[in-house]
Amino acid sequence: MEAQGRCYCGAVRYKASGDPILQVQCHCRECQYVSGGSPNVTIGMPEAGFAYTQGKPKQFRRKDLPQPVTREFCGECGTQLLARAPGVPGVVLLKVGTLDDPSAFTPQMAIFLADKQSFHRVPEGIATFERFPG
Ligand SMILES: [Zn+2]
Ligand SMILES: [Zn+2]
Repeated sequence: MEAQGRCYCGAVRYKASGDPILQVQCHCRECQYVSGGSPNVTIGMPEAGFAYTQGKPKQFRRKDLPQPVTREFCGECGTQLLARAPGVPGVVLLKVGTLDDPSAFTPQMAIFLADKQSFHRVPEGIATFERFPG
């Protein structure tokens, strides 16, 4: 797949090519902050096929966690664009809402149900995990 995306204000744009590695919705508490309260939906794409084509994102990493994810976001409008997680090296976890065509997303698994809120919905028939798969 060839995907393009951008932040809300358009200052930062990216392209991603290759086969999606995973399509996941994450219910963890951290993702609730990033998403606004819903599960966070992401498509994992190969890092090798990913590039920013305009602008440069800011990065954030929590200093109080032993293996924090790196979150990249627009410094102008604050849109979260992607995360890079130590647990899935070589993969960029793109925020589905930043894709030019978010309908490319089909959730395959829901993770961190341990943190799920009662108003979160999990699609029927997908794999579910209390925390990480495996
Ligand atoms: Zn922006
Ligand atoms: Zn999460």
